[in-house]
Amino acid sequence: MKTQEIARRWVDFFVSKGHTAVPSASLVSSDPSLLFTVAGMVPFIPYLTAQEEPPYTRATSVQKCIRTGDIEEVGKTSRHGTFFQMCGNFSFGDYFKREAIHFAWELLTGSIEDGGYGLDKARLWVTVYEDGDEKDTEARSIWEDEIGMPSERVVGTGKEDNYWNTGQPGPGGPCSEIYYDRGPEYGVDGGPAVDETRFVEIWNLVFMQYRLSAVRSKTDFDVAGELPKRNIDTGLGLERLAMILQGVENMYETDQLRPVLDKAAELAGIVYTSTEDPADPNHANDVRLRMIADHTRSSLMLISDGVTPGNEGRGYVLRRLIRRAVRALRLMGVDTAVLPELLPVSRDAMKGVYPIVAEDFERIARIAYAEERAFSRTIASGTIRLDDALKSAQAEGHNLSGDDAFTLHDTFGFPIDLTLEIASEAGLAVDEKRFRELMTEQRTRAQKDAKSKKGGHADLSVFNQLALAGKVNFTGYDTLVGESKI
Ligand code: ATP
Ligand code: MG
Ligand code: MG
Ligand code: MG
Repeated sequence: MKTQEIARRWVDFFVSKGHTAVPSASLVSSDPSLLFTVAGMVPFIPYLTAQEEPPYTRATSVQKCIRTGDIEEVGKTSRHGTFFQMCGNFSFGDYFKREAIHFAWELLTGSIEDGGYGLDKARLWVTVYEDGDEKDTEARSIWEDEIGMPSERVVGTGKEDNYWNTGQPGPGGPCSEIYYDRGPEYGVDGGPAVDETRFVEIWNLVFMQYRLSAVRSKTDFDVAGELPKRNIDTGLGLERLAMILQGVENMYETDQLRPVLDKAAELAGIVYTSTEDPADPNHANDVRLRMIADHTRSSLMLISDGVTPGNEGRGYVLRRLIRRAVRALRLMGVDTAVLPELLPVSRDAMKGVYPIVAEDFERIARIAYAEERAFSRTIASGTIRLDDALKSAQAEGHNLSGDDAFTLHDTFGFPIDLTLEIASEAGLAVDEKRFRELMTEQRTRAQKDAKSKKGGHADLSVFNQLALAGKVNFTGYDTLVGESKI
């Protein structure tokens, strides 16, 4: 089943259950305090926090999301993209746990002929909130007594994983997550608490039920009572479901990403082997190809939503994505411009769902290609300096110093992994320990700087609250500044 069809079924199902279909909002949130839209609930925050009266009590969407906090996972796990689409259903003071759970089950396990996804019931596991004496017995009983889930596949997990709050006084409540067992070839038995590679999280149901009077941390807060109006917020990863329904190894092999991966492999003259085993000699290149597919698409979608490369905030995220993709191909021996090859392939894979990426492609391409050219110039001048440094290190009989590697990175924007690669070709090691020390010092300086410049950049407090609540997995601007890998 194509990704587009999976999304269509989602919307059709929830519309048939009385939900209003709401189009995806931009990746650039209208809320200036947010860097990007990180979850399906973001456009609905005013309704969920009762700041505004919603025009409907039930809504559904397939929301474009960017999570920069997951960037280091991309290509290494089967299931983390920087861009992905989150399918959601929302209730604003309307239905609650019982309906939310029944809807989820009906859609996931309903037959393909009847508009469902036809998942095998025996492969589904769920979590419910259970922390010491506090237990969401209501959710457990719905799963076990009404749905008929065997109790050993209803796993209790605590506040850290399974409780949502905003990081400040306001709504909060337990969650229930749904996992899919990919089978023994993917890992050990025992459920999601034991192995999140074999048991893949596909859907998170959030039950906004309580009024929290104080929130000291994600796991330490006071419950003042029930909310007058209880809400439902859910999120299912569209690419994760596509990976399961298309029977592929990971989300980068699904239909909206695979063509880009194949194009990158062709450019590099490499055969993609689909391995997720770090001990496999093909692993490094396979990770790179998956990352290129992800980052190319994320760049396409970000530029389409109005982001341009820059040194701060959103622009810096985009710059970093483009550079990482270009660099990965360099490391596989491709020295020519790669985005003119990759971006049109990504456009063609996405335009069925987002026609704007084709209509606006000239502008998108101009911005992306210019950024790649600028990066190529950086690499060219950095390479000359690196060669000089390597020559004198060789002449003096020592390895490349951490200070040299840092200057290349910091002053000339030359990525450390290219330095490592080129140095090792010259038979020299790099003093990485010293390099990391200098990076840490610089990061500390940058963080102080960012704090003192408050107001100059987006205030990320809401983000941090969401991150604190575990609802999103966001690494804010502070941690992006001075990252070791541009
Ligand atoms: P994980 O624990 O796997 O990182 P999560 O708990 O951070 O996921 P949620 O915040 O609960 O994810 O988001 C709801 C759903 O969105 C998840 O159940 C998953 O299916 C999907 N999802 C989350 N992050 C990503 C991502 N980086 N790429 C693709 N899908 C994602
Ligand atoms: Mg999770
Ligand atoms: Mg989750
Ligand atoms: Mg996560």
